[in-house]
Amino acid sequence: MSMYSTRGHACGTVSQSILWGLSYDGGLYVPSIYPQMSMERLASLCGESYQKIASRVLRDLLEDYSISEIEACVENAYTSENWENKDIVPLTELSGAVYVAELFHGPTLAFKDIALSILPYFIRLAADKNNEKREISIMVATSGDTGKAALEGFKNVAGTSCTVFYPLHGVSKVQQLQMITTDGNNTHVIGVNGNFDDTQTAVKKMLSSNDFRERMNASGKLPSSANSINFGRLIPQIVYYFTSYINLVKNGKIRFGQEVNFVVPTGNFGDILAGYYAKNMGLPIRRLICASNRNNVLTDFFNNGTYYANRCFYQTMSPSMDILISSNLERLLFDLTNRDASLVSLWMNQLKESGSFCIGTERLSQMNKIFSAGYADDMMTAEEIKTVFERTRYLMDPHTAVASRVLRDYRLQTNDHTPSIILATASPYKFAPDVLASLENRPRNASDDFFACSEKLEKMSGMPVPRQIRNLVDLPVRHQRVCEVDDMQKAIFSELGI
Ligand SMILES: *Cc1c(COP(=O)(O)O)cnc(C)c1O
Repeated sequence: MSMYSTRGHACGTVSQSILWGLSYDGGLYVPSIYPQMSMERLASLCGESYQKIASRVLRDLLEDYSISEIEACVENAYTSENWENKDIVPLTELSGAVYVAELFHGPTLAFKDIALSILPYFIRLAADKNNEKREISIMVATSGDTGKAALEGFKNVAGTSCTVFYPLHGVSKVQQLQMITTDGNNTHVIGVNGNFDDTQTAVKKMLSSNDFRERMNASGKLPSSANSINFGRLIPQIVYYFTSYINLVKNGKIRFGQEVNFVVPTGNFGDILAGYYAKNMGLPIRRLICASNRNNVLTDFFNNGTYYANRCFYQTMSPSMDILISSNLERLLFDLTNRDASLVSLWMNQLKESGSFCIGTERLSQMNKIFSAGYADDMMTAEEIKTVFERTRYLMDPHTAVASRVLRDYRLQTNDHTPSIILATASPYKFAPDVLASLENRPRNASDDFFACSEKLEKMSGMPVPRQIRNLVDLPVRHQRVCEVDDMQKAIFSELGI
């Protein structure tokens, strides 16, 4: 298995793709084949721990890593110290063949932890394997959750630094506090006067600019990415599709081999793409349901085949999905065109130049054999948080509630009652003011204090406030730099002392 760029001009080993993040031609790295997990092998994993299953799944994907290296990465990443639930991704039954896979029991209370607690270990090994002596300078654009998860993952890791750019007014108070209070000798956090798309586009531009790379190089630094465009971010997410499936079998909820649906709250298309990879590797997945908030560019795309990004950008109560340019979609498009890099390049250029591209009806119907899509705006999301809590006492964060609502609508429209797993991507305590306002059926007040809201939610639900939230109020602010979108390069140079 080697790695190709979706734009056709580059290839390399898995460790190189992890080290470099984005291909120099602007494309994303994809594997030449999908390794197959046979049903016998899948059956043999029933009853095994998350760590064991992770090592088994990752082994086939990390071709130039040894089995013992992979096992060490897994052991270091998924420790009982960092994960308060021993299952790592526990599965809960909600009602009528609907299950929730909780991806938020890691250090920063969001699903990004799954990938970002293991990525630094992949990168360190990748540097060694490729005889890379420069400092690996990780650059991250975040819509809220990736930033903190990356900072925690890379903090104090020798030979690396981690710089996070976040939209100054586009993240929740808790998300901002989590980032700007990060300690460590190699962490940098910069607020950007712009939205997430501006921020992500600027980071991608820096990473593929020769000028930028040369200046970094002259200071002994190799710029790289920890965004979900990095293949090393994607593959740890394939694991929980497998463990969730295995959990249902183990608990007698489905027969071995029976198909399930996954419902995924989607922003940059990384999480759901991992599900598509799991399906291609042989996991019995019937449909992947792509759930968006009011920024429903993907819902429209899956329904009519035109990606149209020139539209109003909305700030919603699910900020990690406030995205109009879904970077990882490019990897799906690559497959959809039978790996036609020139067609993908053409579409990506059209997207850049005119804000849209169209894939045609034939490809659309091919795509719709696997994917369904829907969206929920803030009002529907708030209703869903309340409805689910009243019926089942289960407390959902807004991102998870978007998925839950989209599944409810999907079932009504299609009558497809395949057992379905909702991916719960954040702890409700990361968005306590919005969750509480939803339960109380009132608009959120700007003055709502996240900590007071958390305490109240704890009383209502009996679900304890996580210690990461409790600790937050006492931590000193360590990062205050703010810049304009056009000055991001200048800002990172000053941060890194270049
Ligand atoms: C990042 C994130 C998402 C979206 O995931 P993608 O991989 O970008 O599609 C959804 N929910 C939460 C809480 C997130 O942090």
